Amino acid sequence: MHVTIIGAGLGGLTLARVLHVHGIPATVYEAEASAGARAQGGMLDIHEHDGQQALRAANLFDEFRGIILEGREATRVLAPDGAVLLDQPEDGTAGRPEVQRGELRRILLDSLPEGTVRWGHKVTGVRALGDGRHEVAFANGGTVVTSLLVGADGAWSRVRPLVSGAVPRYVGRSFVETYLFDADSRHPAAARAVGGGALMALVPGKGIMAHRESGGTLHTYVALTKPLEWFAEIDFSDSAALARVAREFDGWAPELTALITDSDTAPVLRPLNTLPIGHKWDRVPGVTLLGDAAHLFAPSGDGANLAMFDGAELGKAIAAHPGDPEAALAEYEQALFPRSTAAAVEGSHTHEMLFDENAPHSVISFLTA
Ligand SMILES: Cc1cc2nc3c(=O)[nH]c(=O)nc-3n(C[C@H](O)[C@H](O)[C@H](O)COP(=O)(O)OP(=O)(O)OC[C@H]3O[C@@H](n4cnc5c(N)ncnc54)[C@H](O)[C@@H]3O)c2cc1C
Repeated sequence: MHVTIIGAGLGGLTLARVLHVHGIPATVYEAEASAGARAQGGMLDIHEHDGQQALRAANLFDEFRGIILEGREATRVLAPDGAVLLDQPEDGTAGRPEVQRGELRRILLDSLPEGTVRWGHKVTGVRALGDGRHEVAFANGGTVVTSLLVGADGAWSRVRPLVSGAVPRYVGRSFVETYLFDADSRHPAAARAVGGGALMALVPGKGIMAHRESGGTLHTYVALTKPLEWFAEIDFSDSAALARVAREFDGWAPELTALITDSDTAPVLRPLNTLPIGHKWDRVPGVTLLGDAAHLFAPSGDGANLAMFDGAELGKAIAAHPGDPEAALAEYEQALFPRSTAAAVEGSHTHEMLFDENAPHSVISFLTA
């Protein structure tokens, strides 16, 4: 058996690794040109019940422990005027250690046999050949035929149309991403506001959420509830976009707005999209989905964990049914659908809670419960 995986995100790589642990070969086709083609960005808290389980199944738990950034589970909630509403230091009991996404991806990549990931292979289309076989076409002109295809290619999956007509829908909110480097020396007021871990400054419909990464980097998501047309009028390739976004926070404390205006990088717009809650499909021979390709919802701190868990569960199911991939895919999907529906319900609720009419008090109650 040889498994063809589209997408070298955390989900696809976890699947490839768990298959490798079980002696099953896989090839991962990835659109990006190389492992370093794009900054991976963002801190991820890795949960005991899904992300950490996946890393155990991948035999990479010790490597994971080696990249944990201590102290980053601390959380502060600030009012727009900078007043501290909640200051929760890390006490080591939350069970959600924080790592850099890029580091996590690196340990997965390093654990795979040379040549497993084929970079520069952007899938342009997939067609069914019958009997569970599929032909995958790439932008570079190549094709492959496979009898076991996994779409791990994220929100805008090219594999998803084989099983479902669902398409992502804009949730009405976007994040704008900024970075401040060497913040303790170059941006000390902002660094003090963020503290040692995460900062949230939220009001109904918008907010500034920042995290201290390694090397004194402050990584910020600025949340705005606006239609896509509103963002389309801003040129995000120009740093003037920072001033335009910051105008939405007029009157807020300068140490908070500095997380926008002092960005050392051009701002990146991240529109938030979702698939319908409860997205599922009838069994289609020879193909399945995992991660955001299967279930996409607005960020709530669980999507990457779920993608890794899906990858591990699918890898274990394939290993448990040698010579019978259909049984493996059926078993995997039977658990996937209720799991992802429950996660999407909870995740959407968590995301909306951040910006609801009681913001920031709903999130403070949640954090202190
Ligand atoms: C702003 C933001 C913040 C988030 N914060 C968190 C968080 O704190 N914690 C958390 O758990 N989750 C978070 N998430 C969710 C998380 O990022 C996703 O759920 C997760 O990355 C999904 O992993 P994946 O492997 O399914 O897909 P992806 O990470 O999207 O990986 C898909 C891969 O497929 C490749 N690909 C795409 N199309 C093609 C193609 N046509 N051909 C070949 N390759 C292709 C892509 O280049 C990519 O490498 C956040 C999401 C957003 C938008």
